[in-house]
Amino acid sequence: MMPVFNPSPVQKISFRNRQIFVKRDDLLHPDFSGNKARKFLYYFNNLPQHIDTIASYGGNQSNAMFSLSAFAKLKKLKFNYYTRPIPFYLKQKPAGNFLAALNNGMNIIEINSPNEIPEEENTFFIKQGGAEPYAEVGLKQLAQEIDDFALKQNFSNLTIFLPSGTGATAVFLQKNSRFRVFTTPCVGNEDYLSQQFFELVPNKKNHPQILNLHKKFQFGRPYPEFLKIWTELTIQTNIEFDLLYDPPGWLALMRHFQILQEPVLYIHCGGTAGNQTMLSRYCYNKIGSYCK
Ligand SMILES: *Cc1c(COP(=O)(O)O)cnc(C)c1O
Repeated sequence: MMPVFNPSPVQKISFRNRQIFVKRDDLLHPDFSGNKARKFLYYFNNLPQHIDTIASYGGNQSNAMFSLSAFAKLKKLKFNYYTRPIPFYLKQKPAGNFLAALNNGMNIIEINSPNEIPEEENTFFIKQGGAEPYAEVGLKQLAQEIDDFALKQNFSNLTIFLPSGTGATAVFLQKNSRFRVFTTPCVGNEDYLSQQFFELVPNKKNHPQILNLHKKFQFGRPYPEFLKIWTELTIQTNIEFDLLYDPPGWLALMRHFQILQEPVLYIHCGGTAGNQTMLSRYCYNKIGSYCK
C-alpha cells in the first residue's frame, strides 16, 4: 500500500524566549493537511469499492468540510456537503474554508435539519465531530513519527501539546504514544473534554492531561487576547497558526509551561484556510488593526 503522507517536518522555534519544537502537520501534504487529514487517513484505503461520492454534514466554515473536499478531489470522488441554510453574505461572497472547499468541487446542499439527509446510492457518508473511532489509524502514524523524531534527537523524554475540540486527536495520540500528551479544551469545558476521552478510550491511563485557561472562552468567538498571541506568534515564529484552536492552545501552554518537562513539542493541527474569515470577524468587531 502506498503511504499517503510522508512524515511532516518538525521545526524548532523560539517563542517568548522559550525553545519549542513544532510538528508541522499543516505541511503534511500540499492539498490535504492538518489533524483532519490524520483523522480521515483511514478512509484513504478503506472506502467501499462501489462508491463514487462521499457525503458529510456540518457547519459552513468547518475545517473538516475543507479537508473532506480535498480528500474527495484526491480520490476523484464527488463530494456532497449538507449544511444548514447559508447566510446571504457568504453566498454572495464565498470566503475561507467555504471558498476553498467550493474550489475543490464541493457540492453544497442546504437543509434545515440533519434528518433531511437522504440515503443515496454509491455514496459513503463520513461523520465529523463526536466519537470517531476510525480516526485512530492516522493518529497511530503521527505517534510513530513523533517517536522517530525523539529517537533521532536522542530525547528520552518529550512533552506533547495540542489544543482540543472533540479531543479525538489528543486521546488517540496519547493512547499510541509513549510520551505524555497535554491539551486544553477549546470547545466545551474540562468536564466535556474528559467525557469525550472516556467515550473514545475507556482506560483513563490513556487520557491526555488537561491544562486549563485562566478564564472561559466561547468557541469561535473573537477575543482580543487570542488575536494578540496569534499576532505575536506570527511575528516571532514566522508560522501561520490557526485562529480558532491555536490561540487558546498557546495561552494554555504558556500559562502552564513551568510544570512541563522539556523539550516540548507543539502539534500544529492545520486549519489556516479558515483564518481569512476569522480575521474579518475580528475586523467587524473592531478588534485589532487588520482592517483598513
Ligand atoms: C479540528 C481541529 C482541532 C481539534 O481536533 P479534535 O480532534 O476535535 O480535538 C484542533 N486544531 C485544528 C486546527 C482543528 O481543525
